[in-house]
Amino acid sequence: MAGTGDPKNFSANNDILKERESLLNFTKFLILTKPMQCIINRRAQFSASHRYWLPEWDEAQNREKFGVASQFPGHGHNYVLSVSLVGEIDTYGMVENLSIVKKVIKQEVTSQLDYGYLNDVWPEFEDTLPTTENIARVIWQRLAPRLPLVKIQVFEHPQLWADYQGNAMKATLTVQTHFSAAHRLALPELTLEQNSEIYGKCARIHGHGHNYHLEVSVAGEIDPRTGMLVDLDGLHQVINDYVVEPFDHSFLNKDIPYFAQVVPTAENIALHIAQLLQKPIQELGAELDKVKLIESPNNSCEIYCNQSLQPQEILSYREPALTGIK
Ligand SMILES: [Zn+2]
Ligand SMILES: [Zn+2]
Repeated sequence: MAGTGDPKNFSANNDILKERESLLNFTKFLILTKPMQCIINRRAQFSASHRYWLPEWDEAQNREKFGVASQFPGHGHNYVLSVSLVGEIDTYGMVENLSIVKKVIKQEVTSQLDYGYLNDVWPEFEDTLPTTENIARVIWQRLAPRLPLVKIQVFEHPQLWADYQGNAMKATLTVQTHFSAAHRLALPELTLEQNSEIYGKCARIHGHGHNYHLEVSVAGEIDPRTGMLVDLDGLHQVINDYVVEPFDHSFLNKDIPYFAQVVPTAENIALHIAQLLQKPIQELGAELDKVKLIESPNNSCEIYCNQSLQPQEILSYREPALTGIK
């Protein structure tokens, strides 16, 4: 290093080191004295029925908008509720006393909704239909005066859930689906040996397959009357038309034109799915929020879609990174 032999420079370097050390100690002091925030999650469940039916519409209008969910006298779900709370860890080592949290959730929510007909149980559902996203919103309103909420999550079933974070009529709805596909991870400009060095067994020339699980989250405003932030049938249709139908039982590298140029890693598949879905979901009146692709129980990835998903930006992901790989 230049100048390290010079005693004057040595003392200057020493001063800098001392200054850094005191800054580090001050940072440690700040971290240790700042109250520790922690999020806790409490799960609960209830079984309830509901019907998507607006009395001001005739049978045909209800049927067209809500499909079989408009049928008399309704249908039911085993709902799972997750309540997330934030706070500092108190002298008892807790954010909130869980036995109190449990009691409040039971008192304010599950004891009232369990085995009930949601449309009639709470007056809020007379104004806005009890869709998954609206149930999450109303549960937030009911619990917020008593618990330090950060998120309410309601699962209608394992393939459909809503997240609400106290943001007026804004919510997120997630649907889960799956497809099976084969792929091979290799860059065309590299030798088999080089590809194997980077991608391991995934570079084997005849490829291999996965049962992919796909979660698509869309964000939007809950309609004050229908309770829907997006047309659910429309969303399923878009995911099916743009992703499941073309991807299912395909060899991604050969059957999906995009992957002729781009290596179909889980990350690149998720990114391409986000690119495919962004516009059609906008046309349904919602925003694509997140795409999560689960390749195996050990491997998944998430693309947050509040950023540009333009194809040219992903080219940098393709730069071969041979150096430093053992
Ligand atoms: Zn339902
Ligand atoms: Zn694979």
